[in-house]
Formats: sequence, C-alpha cells, structure tokens
Amino acid sequence: MKKILLAFSFSVVSFINSYAQQPQKPDASEIFESIKKLNFLGSVLYLAAHPDDENTKLISYMANEVKARTAYLSLTRGDGGQNLIGPELRELLGVIRTEELLAARRIDGGEQFFTRANDFGFSKHPDETLSIWNKNQVLSDVVLAIRRFQPDIIINRFDHRSPGTTHGHHTSSAMLSVEAFDISNKTEQFPDQLKTVDPWQPKRLFFNTSWWFYGSKEKFDAADKSKLLQLDTGVYFPSSGLSNTEISAISRSQHKSQGFGNTGTRGSEYEYIELLKGDMPIDPNNIFEGINTTWSRVKGGEAIGKLLKQVEQEYDFKQPSSSIPNLVKAYTLIQNLEDTHWKTIKSNDIKHVIAACAGLYLEAAANHNWATINELVNLNIEVVNRSNLGITLESITLPNGTSLSKNMTLTNNKKFNFNYDYTIADTTKLTTPYWLLEQGTLGMYKVDKEALIGKPETPRTQNVIFNIKIANINIPFNKAVIYKTNDPVKGEVYKPFEIIPEVTSQLSEPVVIFAEDTQKQVAVKVTAGRSNIIGHVSLQTPDNWNVTPESHTLNIANKGETQTVLFTVTPPKTQSEVKVAPLVTLNGKTFSKALIEIDYEHIPFQTVVMPNESKFVRLDIKRKGDNIAYIQGAGDVVPESLRQIGYQVAEITPEDITPINLSRFDAVVVGIRAYNTLPDLKYKQQILFDYVANGGNLIVQYNTSHQLKVDTLAPYALQLSRERVTDENAKVTFLDPDNELLNSPNKISEKDFEGWTQERGLYFPSQWGPEFTPLLEIHDKNESKKEGSLLVAKYGKGHYIYTGLSFFREFPAGVSGAFRLFANMLSIGKENINLTSNLND
Ligand SMILES: [Zn+2]
Repeated sequence: MKKILLAFSFSVVSFINSYAQQPQKPDASEIFESIKKLNFLGSVLYLAAHPDDENTKLISYMANEVKARTAYLSLTRGDGGQNLIGPELRELLGVIRTEELLAARRIDGGEQFFTRANDFGFSKHPDETLSIWNKNQVLSDVVLAIRRFQPDIIINRFDHRSPGTTHGHHTSSAMLSVEAFDISNKTEQFPDQLKTVDPWQPKRLFFNTSWWFYGSKEKFDAADKSKLLQLDTGVYFPSSGLSNTEISAISRSQHKSQGFGNTGTRGSEYEYIELLKGDMPIDPNNIFEGINTTWSRVKGGEAIGKLLKQVEQEYDFKQPSSSIPNLVKAYTLIQNLEDTHWKTIKSNDIKHVIAACAGLYLEAAANHNWATINELVNLNIEVVNRSNLGITLESITLPNGTSLSKNMTLTNNKKFNFNYDYTIADTTKLTTPYWLLEQGTLGMYKVDKEALIGKPETPRTQNVIFNIKIANINIPFNKAVIYKTNDPVKGEVYKPFEIIPEVTSQLSEPVVIFAEDTQKQVAVKVTAGRSNIIGHVSLQTPDNWNVTPESHTLNIANKGETQTVLFTVTPPKTQSEVKVAPLVTLNGKTFSKALIEIDYEHIPFQTVVMPNESKFVRLDIKRKGDNIAYIQGAGDVVPESLRQIGYQVAEITPEDITPINLSRFDAVVVGIRAYNTLPDLKYKQQILFDYVANGGNLIVQYNTSHQLKVDTLAPYALQLSRERVTDENAKVTFLDPDNELLNSPNKISEKDFEGWTQERGLYFPSQWGPEFTPLLEIHDKNESKKEGSLLVAKYGKGHYIYTGLSFFREFPAGVSGAFRLFANMLSIGKENINLTSNLND
C-alpha cells in the first residue's frame, strides 16, 4: 500500500466564476459534466518547459470532451521571462506564472505540476540546458510526476529530435519525457521514490505536432500521416454554451504577465499528435482506444461503474439532489477499493459532486489574511444545506485538532454560523512558496522534502474538517481556512490565509550604488506580523562599510503596522560589492526575511516570504556630461540606475523630441525596443540625427528586426539580426583597445565584464556601414564570432552608439562594469569630467 499525495482538483469547470479567489459554485450543468467524469478512468499528462508552452486546446479537449484526468507538467515556473503587468521579475515572476497556470487549469479543467528546474533564461541548446539544470534531478522529478499521476498517455509539446531549433529548455523537456517514459516502470530507477509511489508504465507517448514543424501547410498536407492522430478540438459544449476553442482561449488568456490574451474561435479545428512510443490506435480520432478507461480497470470497480452510469442516466437538472442517495452508495463502495490511486482520486471527486448536488456550503473564514505562530485566530464558520435531504453536521475539527461535537440537523436552507478562537500551533510551517525558502542554484530550486517536489503550491496547513452525515454515511469535508472581505468596487474579495513570520523587514532598494565616497541614507521597513513587536533592527555589513547607528529600537503596537528606520552608510574608499541584510531581534530570536505581497485580479493574492538581501556597490566611476534624456520603450529601469550614479535623467516621449528640447541634453538614450513599441519615433529620427550632428550623443539599446517601426534605425547602414550571446560569462575580446569608448573616462578591462547576469546581450546587428567601429567580440561556445554588440560612429560633431549589450539586466543587478562602460558611452566626445571619485586603487 502506498500513500498517495495528490493535489485536489475539482473536475467541474466554471467559467462565470473564474475569479481565482472565489470558491467554486457549480451549477446543474457543471455538476452533470462532473458526474460523467466520475465514470472515466483514464489520464493524460501534457509535458513542456514553461508556463504558456502548453496547448490549452488539447488540455481542455482531454479534460472536458474526453473527460480524462488531464495534467500539465511544466518543468519550470517561468522565472526567466518578462513581465508585462508589473515590476516582479525572477522568483516573483515565477510565483505569478505558477498562479497563472493554476488559473488556466481552473478554466480548462486540468491539474498542474512542476519540477525543481529553474527557468534561468534563454538557452540555445539542450546540451547547455541540461548542464545548467541538474539533469538527473529533473529526470527524477519527471519520473516522480509520472509515478504519482499514472498517466496512460503522455503528450510532449516539443520534438525531442531537433536540438538547436528552439529554446534549449523546450527540446530538453521532450528529451527528458522520452527518457522517463522508458524508465518510470523500472524499480532500479530512482528506487527511493518507491517508498511513496509505485513504478508506472504509460501506454503511449505522443508529440503534439503542427504544420509549422513541417515548414509550411503545403508540406504538412503532403506528409505521411500514418503515425498521426487527428483530434477535433473545436467541439461544442451545449452545457456551457462554449466551443472547446473558446474555453481554451479563456484559459490561455490567464498568461497575462506574458501578454497572451487570446481570442476564442468556433468551428472544427484539428490538433495532430504523432505517436512516438506504444501502439497506434486503429481509430485515428480516439487517443484512448484499446486502453480500459471504465471502472472495470479497478478491482471491485464494476458495481461502482454501474451505479454511476445510473446516476448519469437519471440525473435531474431541476433537482440534482435526487442523485445523492446513489452517489453516497457509490462513495461507500469507493471506500472499500484496494486500489489506493483511484480510491483517492474518485473519493475526492465524488465528495464534491455530492456537496454540489446538495447545495452544501461549507466555509471557514479567519479574521485576517495572515497570522503568526502562537497567535489567537478568530474563525467564522458557515454551514448551510440547500436540499431536502436529511443531512447532519456531526462535528467540526479546527486546524489545531480540537474536535467540536455538533450533532445538528441541517434543515433545508437554514444557515448556521459558528465563531471559534484557536491558537496557531508553534510548530506550524510558513505557507510561503516552498521552492523559495532555501537558496538554490542558477538551474535548480532547492527542495529536499520529496512530498513537496512537483506540487504547484505549498499545501495549506490551516484546514477545518466538517464531518457531515449524508444518507446515513459519514463523509468528512476538508476546507482550507480563507479570508474574505468586502471591497466597495470589486465586491466580495477572497484571499488565502497565510502563516508568516512574527516580524519581517526590507531594505528600500535591492541595489544601492555609491558612485562617490559620500555617505547615503538607506531605509529599512519593518512589518509586524503580530501585535506588540518590541525589539531591535540592525544592518549586517562587512567591516569596511560603516553603518550608523548600530541598531534602532522597534516598537510596533499593532499587527500589520510598519516602522521605517534610517541607517547612514559610508562606503569604503575602494571598489566593493557586498550583500547587506537587515536583522531583527525579538526576545533573543532573530528574523531576517522580507514579506512581499503580489496582488492581481486574475490570480489569488500572494504572500511571499523571502531572504531580504540587498546589494551595496561602491563604484570606481568617472563621468562626463550631466543631463540625459531617456525615451522609454518596452520598459526598463535604466533611468533610475543612471540617477544612482549621479546623472540628471529626464524621461521624454516622442512628442517631446524637438530640436530646442534636445539641445539641453548631453546625451539621449533610447530604451529597449523603443523602435518596436513607439511608432511615432519614425517621425522623430531626423531630429535625433540632427541632434547628434550638432554634438549630441545618441545611445540606442536593443530592438528586434521584427516589427521595427522605422526604416532608418541609424544615420548609417545598420542591419539587425537575431544573434545573441546567452552565456553571461562568455569571453569578451576588445577589437579596438585604444578607442576612447574603452578608455575614457573609465579604463575598461576584462574585469568590467565579470559578474554579469543572465546574458551578454541580444539582437546584435550583423551588418553595418564602414562608418561604424565595432568594439567588442563576444560569442557563445561553439558559435561563430559576433562583433555587433557595441558599435560606435561619429556623425557630425556627435556620436551614435548602438548596443545590444543587456544593460537593462545588469544595472538592476548592480554590475559595476556595466555602469563604467555606460558612463563612457554617455561621456564620449564630452569635455569636462563632472565627477572624479577619489579611489585609491
Ligand atoms: Zn517556452
């Protein structure tokens, strides 16, 4: 007997109630669809690399048309992507994208799993990907997911046979899936897992192909399709009034941080899946052909199947509660099954069908959306039965284990409210995302507890059990404690109930740049997780950084309130980069985590507890010029970073670009992808070029050749390409070592290219006019030399610079060399040094 740990997912798909926070309230049609699903015992696992790789048409088709248990295994949480809806990046973006996948699954009816692999950014080849990920750990996690979920069928989004043609994470996901398909049933593979799961052999492995993998629709039409299954994913569901392709579009539109809003379509639409392993179904439209998906696949299951078929046939849309007696009989039979896998899954599913048929509403709401250990929490419990059935509330078990006997008959539509206080046990774990609690590596999250590996979220620890007797059978219903409030605009708002530290603290800036050796003040905000916080906060820095005062006294009366204190920091005389963290002491206990809240309407409110280190950087930097104009494109934090090193930066729009306006600036900097996102720049190019001719500096950061809104990007010939260097440590060779840009006012050396993050740069020009001087050669391993990352040309009295170097990534990470090089770009051709730092080295 194995203990199976499964994330519960209710198979009812709700479109009206798709706000992530709200409890599901299935209507009569939705209940009927989930009764039909109770009668299907087959599982499909869809597998790819990132949130948003998944084909929601196919997932929704499997979950809602075929009625299979359907899950998406995304190897990563998408930390390396961009964020179109807010400032969160890296780990916090991974939290958002995790929740976006869960929001998508709530709509298309799938479940969601992950591995410990971290999306470290773009990767050109699976060899690179699998050397940065711990290949064996990720394979182990894929095998664990297969052994837990027990899919009959696995569908890969990507082709394992074409490395180098797509993101290395994509091909790696397919390669690991193929390997896992062959070994998940072998007891000698990852034997430690077999304490909690059984070996498992899926029956078929497919690749979700498409005409674009063939190059064109014509080539696809002409191709051999004997190994392809064709599925019409455009089926219509009268029960919801939606086509499958409309549901999948709503699901896909949950990837809001990636701007994947999607318009639904109607009518037949085919998806093709290519058989890679296992036997080919004779019927090319039935993916499960030859696989037993009825109750007879489980020992003792036939009687259950017969009963549930009857429930399906006799279902009364006007009175779903008439199904309850037979559903309860089926529930009882399920409890006697030896097969723990299907017993666990179907018990959960049928319980929720029973509750839905009875209109049984069970809720436990806390008086705040968070609490700390040892805190007294007030719970408001609501119980109401909205059916004529004799239902009894036997007892309620509170999260601390206290059982309260009730023995109350729940008469039709009579609401019961109970109020209880309970204390959060001092052994209770934090509810923050489990994969962020410990420092991982570039390629992997650190998660030691096997029970957590693969889970989309940290399991809720605060649950209330409602022991309900229906048709003389005791059925326990487990409900996570929630918090709810009324918002004057949004109405009812739900939030998860979180366990957080007693106190958290955060430095105001993740990176503080000291361009001179004068002191700066930094603020630390301390947040009380509970009332009556009395203690101290100090700033932990190495000895050569001076901080005053040594500590501040904390005195915060009420839970949720904050106190902000200021420290004066004096940097050392020499260049230095250090990690700095505030430390709070309460009664001899120390706290060093930050609390970060993420609030978007399409996902549940997120409360993340993370290490709160900031980086202090003492720069050895000189600069010329002072006033900079910045034209924001897709959005970056370069202006704030330039202010940190002493520049006056004015953010301007295309409308502001006039000869008079520009004349007061020493340099104009164009933000990333501005020529892709600002069509009006087309009319301003000549003014910008004239500004350069009159002695200004124009610095243009990366753009993509796709959707370029201007014909003349530069005053001379310049051709963009898709060339990029993804290895942030790739060797940099100086092509023109004596060039002013590499020498004045800062002498640039190899050292300035140390400690870069994520990549060197992207979308380098591949061809340019003879007026340009290329300054750097950088390339990834086993690739041709690339000289287009930094190009400078004299134009009239000024300079035009084009660079694909990723300053927008290096500045927020406080990379000294990136600041020094950018200062040279702004300074080129200028007379006065505005600032000289008095460094000794
Ligand atoms: Zn992807």
